[in-house]
Amino acid sequence: MVFLQGCEIDIEPTSISGPTAITLRPNKFTDVTMNEYIYSDTGGVGVLNFVYTENDLPQVSNEELPNVEIRFRIEPADSIENDPANNVLSNGYAYSAKVNGTLTSPIPRPVGRLSNYVVRLEKDQRIVSVGYTASDVSGIYRVIGEAYYKGSLVTAKTSMVYVKIPDLREFDRKGYDSYKKMLWNFVGQTEFHISNNYVQSNKVGYALSDIAIYIVDTYAKNHNGDSNFIVRMTDASLPWGGMFWIGYTEDTDLSINRVDGYGNPYTITYDAYVHKRVYAPPHRTHRDGRNIDISSYSDDGSGNKDTSRPLYIGDITEAVSNYNKISHMEVWSVIKEADHYHLTCNIASNYYYPYEY
Ligand SMILES: [Zn+2]
Repeated sequence: MVFLQGCEIDIEPTSISGPTAITLRPNKFTDVTMNEYIYSDTGGVGVLNFVYTENDLPQVSNEELPNVEIRFRIEPADSIENDPANNVLSNGYAYSAKVNGTLTSPIPRPVGRLSNYVVRLEKDQRIVSVGYTASDVSGIYRVIGEAYYKGSLVTAKTSMVYVKIPDLREFDRKGYDSYKKMLWNFVGQTEFHISNNYVQSNKVGYALSDIAIYIVDTYAKNHNGDSNFIVRMTDASLPWGGMFWIGYTEDTDLSINRVDGYGNPYTITYDAYVHKRVYAPPHRTHRDGRNIDISSYSDDGSGNKDTSRPLYIGDITEAVSNYNKISHMEVWSVIKEADHYHLTCNIASNYYYPYEY
């Protein structure tokens, strides 16, 4: 409050209170990525400082501070109305999974982990630092530190955390050549994610629109001059990256050990055939805007597969290798997955395996 200049006690000491909001990359926990590497750096870990001033704890003298207990918890802070990461399900109650054996709905969101959930203050201690390891799932989270004096709640402080890959941009849903002929159609939206078409910076976007042209040209060359192939893109990354589940049933149970917002461990089980898997793989990659899935069929221009135009592995590898040759580097690599090809853009930043090239 500007008009209270000189009245220092009313002003939050920002220099010692630390950040009230930080941005962290989503993590990859071993529990949901099994055999994969997880972060080898500290990109997904931050320290939050909570300050409890004399104003916050008016009845508590410095000597009495050891009677103050701070209880921390993590909550999702986004909602259907404010969902920048596109990770909030509007009909979340339609989906359930077993939590410690009990069918639970909606499916609890993994919120990340804290270094401490309960801290008792020491004499003269008014700042508590707590480590936060970001969730696999991008989004807005709040970490709340409630101060209890002799068992009664006195005050609560909140820090916001934005869990996101910072520089993702939306890739155009449709692309056309200069004759207005459609080159690509980006489909694959589901009720779980409307925004499945984000890629890292302009770099990946340009390379992706370029490779689409190479695919169309290579298809024409290999398929009797048929120049009407439309590249059908199905999934890139979410607006803020992170775990990209698509909701599907599998023929085997999947159990994952997690901790809730209070630090209590629980086991979540997604039953075979039954539950749509929310907050669970399949997509182990697609987390940082470098990976794009391309259907092994042409699009028909209206979002359907044109099964009369199959794209063979030989077609796409030829397009990729021609493009890499012209670019004088391995811009793209391609592997076959179920009913599509999985492209990785190697010139983008690798947030998950920073030392791999
Ligand atoms: Zn893929």
